[in-house]
Amino acid sequence: MSSDCLFCKIAAGDIPATVRYQDDLVVVFEDINPQAPTHLLLIPRKHIPTTLDLTPDDNALVGHVFQVAAKMATDLGFADEGFRIVNNCNQAGGQTVWHVHFHLLGQRQLTWPPG
Ligand code: 5GP
Repeated sequence: MSSDCLFCKIAAGDIPATVRYQDDLVVVFEDINPQAPTHLLLIPRKHIPTTLDLTPDDNALVGHVFQVAAKMATDLGFADEGFRIVNNCNQAGGQTVWHVHFHLLGQRQLTWPPG
């Protein structure tokens, strides 16, 4: 845990969030500024600042994040219509919180390319 990290504090329960799923590896909670009817953030409990900081030791962790995202989309009933998983990396990529996270967006028609 990084003591000055917003998402570490949410994972620890020190800052409130609407948590939709958690296990030993990941926490899933609602984005405070949703961009779709379903907009969840999936974060590892482990503090990893960006995608660039992932190591081979994190391969199973990232795979687990995607498995959880797919299961949530299925359980919430929008898997078949479609959804998007997004990771923003560093400033030009749109990252604003330096604890690696994956957005799960669903329940609206998403467009491409993104802004
Ligand atoms: P990024 O821009 O880094 O890819 O995504 C960060 C996300 O965190 C944004 O979508 C933003 O709305 C969300 N966010 C920022 N602060 C908070 C917070 O305090 N609580 C929750 N639930 N989401 C937050």
